Amino acid sequence: MSEKRVYLFGNGKAEGNATMRERLGGKGANLAEMNLIGVPVPPGFTITTDCCNEYYEVGQEKIISLLNDEVMAAVKNIETLMNSKFGDAQNPLLVSVRSGARASMPGMMDTILNLGLNDEVAEGMTKKTGNPHFVYDSYRRFVQMYGDVVLEMKPVNKEDRDPFEEIIEKVKERRGITLDKDMSVEELKDLVRLFKEAIKERTGKDFPDDPIEQLWGAVCAVFRSWMNERAILYRKMEGIPDEWGTAVSVMAMVFGNMGETSATGVCFSRDAGNGENLFNGEYLVNAQGEDVVAGIRTPQQITKIGSQRWAERAGVSEEERVANYPSMEETMPEIYKELDELQNKLEQHYHDMQDMEFTVQEGKLWFLQTRNGKRTGTAMVKIAIDLLHEGMIDEKTAIMRCEPQKLDELLHPVFDKKALMNAKVITQGLPASPGAACGQIVFHADDAKAWHEDGRKVVMVRVETSPEDLAGMAAAEGILTARGGMTSHAAVVARGMGKCCVSGAGGINVDYKSKTVEIDGVVYKEGEYISLNGSTGQVYAGEVPTKAAELSGDFKELMDLCNKYTKLLVRTNADTPHDARVAREFGAQGIGLTRTEHMFFEDKKIIAMREMILSENVEGREKALAKLLPYQKADFKGILEAMDGLPVNIRLLDPPLHEFVPHDNAGQEIMAKEMGVDITTIKHRVDSLAENNPMLGHRGCRLGITFPEITAMQTRAILGAACELKKEGKNPMPEIMVPLIGTYHELKQQKDIIYATAKQVFAEYGIEVEYEVGTMIEIPRAALTADLIAKEAQYFSFGTNDLTQMTFGYSRDDIASFLPVYLDKKILKVDPFQVLDQEGVGRLIKYAVKEGRDARPGLRCGICGEHGGEPSSVKFCAKIGMDYASCSPFRVPIARLAAAQAAIEE
Ligand code: PEP
Ligand code: MG
Repeated sequence: MSEKRVYLFGNGKAEGNATMRERLGGKGANLAEMNLIGVPVPPGFTITTDCCNEYYEVGQEKIISLLNDEVMAAVKNIETLMNSKFGDAQNPLLVSVRSGARASMPGMMDTILNLGLNDEVAEGMTKKTGNPHFVYDSYRRFVQMYGDVVLEMKPVNKEDRDPFEEIIEKVKERRGITLDKDMSVEELKDLVRLFKEAIKERTGKDFPDDPIEQLWGAVCAVFRSWMNERAILYRKMEGIPDEWGTAVSVMAMVFGNMGETSATGVCFSRDAGNGENLFNGEYLVNAQGEDVVAGIRTPQQITKIGSQRWAERAGVSEEERVANYPSMEETMPEIYKELDELQNKLEQHYHDMQDMEFTVQEGKLWFLQTRNGKRTGTAMVKIAIDLLHEGMIDEKTAIMRCEPQKLDELLHPVFDKKALMNAKVITQGLPASPGAACGQIVFHADDAKAWHEDGRKVVMVRVETSPEDLAGMAAAEGILTARGGMTSHAAVVARGMGKCCVSGAGGINVDYKSKTVEIDGVVYKEGEYISLNGSTGQVYAGEVPTKAAELSGDFKELMDLCNKYTKLLVRTNADTPHDARVAREFGAQGIGLTRTEHMFFEDKKIIAMREMILSENVEGREKALAKLLPYQKADFKGILEAMDGLPVNIRLLDPPLHEFVPHDNAGQEIMAKEMGVDITTIKHRVDSLAENNPMLGHRGCRLGITFPEITAMQTRAILGAACELKKEGKNPMPEIMVPLIGTYHELKQQKDIIYATAKQVFAEYGIEVEYEVGTMIEIPRAALTADLIAKEAQYFSFGTNDLTQMTFGYSRDDIASFLPVYLDKKILKVDPFQVLDQEGVGRLIKYAVKEGRDARPGLRCGICGEHGGEPSSVKFCAKIGMDYASCSPFRVPIARLAAAQAAIEE
């Protein structure tokens, strides 16, 4: 026997159940399940998701012949249960045809209602119901939907209005009415005729009168809607594979538009916005499902309390509310009671917040759908913790119920939802650092700082940022760059600061000279307002108000639960005491990476740094470094103190020196003055630092090897700070990390300098501090020779930004130019700088962890690239047995949740 393609349900029986989402789609599986638990559902059947894939393989004709016998038998079954007949003029059965994939994709695919109508059936139904208005309203809706979805009746030009709506407008104009419901039966009949004529004219196709032909047309159209543009885009955003396909559920129609005792609505067992345990929803009397979502008529509240709250917000008095906007609870108390009981039953059954659709036909309640409701980040946490307290789920389930990435919403400022509805998107970049920002455009870091000090809110717009822009970035509400990917300077630094950033917005043209930015033909000047959504990458014109996030007690409870189950620790990447404290509050268990270079840009440090760079010999450099030493020591002391009692991993100088010198004339003039030399000397030196490929050039440990005095100074600063703290009774736990190691000889050489310096420092302070020396693994050769390197290193920290860059050979700052094409052509599934490439880069990491630990048992391994805060990458790290992941402070909770989930999944 060939495999089963169609599953029946109805009258409290079903061939499928809730566990069969993969084959029946979420909707089909839940329709079956609702039957099994005694929730009233119109009878029907579900065609499996496999058939959708088959449709794309074998085509329409073949799939119909494969399905024919099963579908015809299934239609018979509905006829028997409904005691009516498909296509029968006396006693007709109408059906709805609905899409439903494994994962919920609300509104992305197509649905057809009232299928089975033709002129003859309409006449018969009129006789039977005595309600011609209802029949012809249903009929014209059907022709409209069918024409739209199945016969693909589209406007000629994109700007044109929907052709059916145009016809409706004309008919209404003729009569001088504005509302659909005021149309007479004759006008509705006219609409049916005009719609059919328009279809014929526009598509060359006759509207099919045969209900069976209608049915097949609709089923195949639902299959096709799996590949419509918005469904494809939604899948891309949500990471839903194209191979899943959609199921098709066919159900007997029940009618919410049969008069004042009929209604249709959507409801939620809890509040999807804030998570409050309050049944809520909206409904319309005498309407069909699409009217509620279409927003043509304003729906009313289901519960009295919901209605009262709505009235309060809308400024409507209680008297007026009761008279004009009563709730279902007040107007249909019997139905309401049943609805409330059943929604409760469904939540109890699924142990999660339900999002349900229902219809009331002449006083009888039917459920058409239930699913686990989509919710905001705040609601997600509250509902998980509430369900745990209510004993509905256990601790592990509560943790698994929360999506790590969604915690982001709780941690950053967000746009005011209402304001966003009127905001205009002017361009799109990468969602480099989440949150919302709104401010006046500035182009230079100095201006950002000055304007900020004046009390103005600014958004800094740059082609790209460099370490020189740090102060400006700190002062800005958000950062927008034209170039750079998810690990570009702007993105990494902004995430570290918890600051909103949109990077790589290729559609913007920045002109520093005229202080303007051109976006899509419009020129925005310095001082004009602009708003950024760092969570979506969208840029808005003007001022879109934002509001701060709040961390609730539920959030803390969730985090405590995570600690109970996790094996992977979470540290933070932090360069300042402030960031360290923020991260510690979020639960970071140490610092996994302190990038020392950022410190050089503050105050007078940059002058000493530049003096060092300008020096031509060791003596000169040492003199300059001696000036830097107290600054560095103070910085390290601050960070070690903020993380007292927890490990702090400080990395030696990493970026190429040219990042510390000015490249424009004005800056070079200032530098010349600071250094007391002429500008040509500066220009020469700056030119001599230029490299063809700076990311592979004179940076990382190569600096410490060519200028060992830098390594010595930084070691002195780190351990000096630690000694002072220890003398003050604190418990500093420094780790010194050597970057960009490719061969173990490099590490050995640097380690010798560190050890020798440490000895001197301890002698000077008359006290010793425990410390460790480890290395970054961020060059493929280092990963491949991890056994040799482990002999020299007390720990490994995987720098997956550089490791990804060098494994793929993609420049981390230039990926934006080709990434969209790569994603589009499916050469890459995701940006590898955002989501760790487990197949390639991950394989190197796994190998290096194993080889490293074989050579040095118990070798501590962590990750400190940007992937350390990305949930799937964190789970990978947990799975391969890393000790910790380190990420920017605002991602610490996300990583903690992902780590706990990884432990539970195991
Ligand atoms: C890395 O390469 O992953 C890393 C953490 O270092 P940076 O981003 O500073 O190069
Ligand atoms: Mg690196």
